[in-house]
Amino acid sequence: MTTESVEVGGVVNAEPSTTAATTAVNETVVLHDGGDGAMGERILDVRDFSVDYGWGENAVRAVDSVDLHLDRSKVLGIAGESGSGKSTLVYGITRLLRAPGVITGGEARFNLGPNDDGRGERVIDLVNANERELRAIRWSSISIVLQSALSALNPVIRVGTQFEQVLKSHRKDMGKVERRARATELLAMVGLSEDRLNRFPHELSGGQRQRIMIALALALDPQLVIMDEPTTALDVVTQREIISELFELRKRFGFAMIFITHDLSLLVELADEIVVMYAGVLMERASALELYEAPRHPYTLGLLNSFPPMHGERKVLSGIPGSPPDLKNLPGGCTFHPRCPYAMPRCSIETPPLVDIGGTGRSVACWLQVNDPDVAVPVELSRSYPRPVATDVVEETS
Ligand code: ADP
Ligand code: MG
Repeated sequence: MTTESVEVGGVVNAEPSTTAATTAVNETVVLHDGGDGAMGERILDVRDFSVDYGWGENAVRAVDSVDLHLDRSKVLGIAGESGSGKSTLVYGITRLLRAPGVITGGEARFNLGPNDDGRGERVIDLVNANERELRAIRWSSISIVLQSALSALNPVIRVGTQFEQVLKSHRKDMGKVERRARATELLAMVGLSEDRLNRFPHELSGGQRQRIMIALALALDPQLVIMDEPTTALDVVTQREIISELFELRKRFGFAMIFITHDLSLLVELADEIVVMYAGVLMERASALELYEAPRHPYTLGLLNSFPPMHGERKVLSGIPGSPPDLKNLPGGCTFHPRCPYAMPRCSIETPPLVDIGGTGRSVACWLQVNDPDVAVPVELSRSYPRPVATDVVEETS
């Protein structure tokens, strides 16, 4: 029996088409204890999580000591330019990372909800979970739609059969008629008619295929859905359509979501919380509104100026000069300093830690934001949110 995970329709899971996997999924898997501390509303808690590519001298650190968390039914956005480690981070957390990727440290605790007797929670540390445990969780509790999903539907299998395989391997209680009905219902959820079930993927448009990926990801009512740039390959109109449908579904079914994109303006509209990554490191973490209204990291500000906002006024897009660093040859100090318009001498020498600011759960890794009286923070990086109410009274002279 192979223990490798495979991709079906761009949704990654244990292989549903083999009998071995079918058997494994239907065994009762006793999950090992995910460690101390009740998680309550928290569905995912990632701490000090690091991933390298390669070993020994050749290793490069693609994800470096990342901390993040997500509450039930909330949306966490991960933003950052291409190559910043977003996909590596979620592949690592969900244990889909393949060689030469290696998790080098940290934990990723996932809360499956209350125990059957209603006392306590079923918590598993995904970093230490074995393949059987992972198989029991993937797809049914956590599903992923990949960046490369567009070409990933199995081209020689009809759409309906792909749904059939997933449902058959995970929902033993369902008969054939019920499975067909569920597949039809799932298609309707993403705005497609039943006749698509008889089609082969190549007979469908890119947008339709992507909708099918999303429907497959939702097939088993997961608690957490991870979307890794799910619409990047589509035209802008289709992208926006699919994303708004996706968020309607999220509202309806209440699953938590991690949404990855390089388009920070898009995330601001979609996410509750956002983390911004650069060269494998979290540079800033804040609620979506705070991040948009009051960015504190120069990189965040640069990203906000790189994409047009979905709503609101048009502005000149300035982008970020230069390109992301080579992980083999990272600059010293803050890795963003060579591209940073605000860089100070200190920035090329010392790495700024990610520190909480303002006690509201937001944090930033930037030497501008450490309350140094000798440092003048530019106005565009020192806004507060909510904006202070104007109290100035202009007295009229008569
Ligand atoms: P993102 O999803 O933000 O675009 P990735 O997680 O794909 O970024 O990549 C992060 C970094 O890891 C990049 O510098 C990339 O070159 C490197 N990387 C990704 N996959 C591999 C691999 N299989 N081998 C070596 N390096 C890799
Ligand atoms: Mg990626």
